[in-house]
Amino acid sequence: MLYCTKCRTLAPDSTRACPNCRRSRALRPVRAEDEVFFLKVSETEAGEMERVFEEQAVRYSAQPVRGGLAAGVYDPEYLPGDREIYVAYADLERANALFTARDGAKTAETDGEEEMPKGRRMLIQTVSILAFLILVTVTVLCTDALANWIRSLFG
Ligand SMILES: [Zn+2]
Repeated sequence: MLYCTKCRTLAPDSTRACPNCRRSRALRPVRAEDEVFFLKVSETEAGEMERVFEEQAVRYSAQPVRGGLAAGVYDPEYLPGDREIYVAYADLERANALFTARDGAKTAETDGEEEMPKGRRMLIQTVSILAFLILVTVTVLCTDALANWIRSLFG
């Protein structure tokens, strides 16, 4: 098995370039201690996953998506609280056994929208609506002030 040091995913031995990031130089044979990308999960799921991993002594690390950069409110794929879970290659099989047996872990990738907690979705929608209303108000006020100013120039 090969390991991509750039995006930390696994590729079959016959692979010439990483199927994920297309870099060929980043590939090398995988080592037991390499951290392999496992899943992208929500903040809540990450907490639960970390608890299970601690219990089962699975070596893992959790990182904010996109290196902690604030994700756009309008990108449903990435929420600010999302975590990327990496698991040591030596423990990957156990991690898979722990989480693929359950519902949700597999669907989290394809069905992210459904996995999002209702409360958070509503919060994001509310914030978006408020931001829009503020923008409209500011625009109206500015236009009004500008119109008055122009009027005063000719009056
Ligand atoms: Zn890669």
